[in-house]
Amino acid sequence: MADIVKPVPIPDGDSMYFWERCNEGKLVVQHCADCGRHVYYPRAYCPRCMSGELEWVECLGRGTVYSYTVAYRPSGPAFADDCPYVVALIDLAEGVRMMSNIVNAKLEDIHCDMQVEVVFKEVGEVKLPMFQPIGIRF
Ligand SMILES: [Zn+2]
Repeated sequence: MADIVKPVPIPDGDSMYFWERCNEGKLVVQHCADCGRHVYYPRAYCPRCMSGELEWVECLGRGTVYSYTVAYRPSGPAFADDCPYVVALIDLAEGVRMMSNIVNAKLEDIHCDMQVEVVFKEVGEVKLPMFQPIGIRF
């Protein structure tokens, strides 16, 4: 049986810069020069004011768990060894919401409003932004 490879993001014109920064260990979002709002996911126009004047800014890398779920059954064979894993909605300090995983935490310690920080995990040839409780040191 062939090795099962995890699916990874396929960058497009709007998200290429985002994924390239992730591979450098930097979390970035867009910022609208016209209305001042941060924007995530990457796109060509501000969803609030339709301006095309979006610039990239590096994030603080911290956020709060808005909600989460624990997957005890894998979403596909490539994720079988990860179970149980946590899929969460993270409200970044910049005011945007990002879906990601919570890692480096005991399941019983994870809760809504938990403060988390970004950590990058290598999956294949890319680094994906995931989040861990603030204060974890290895
Ligand atoms: Zn705007």
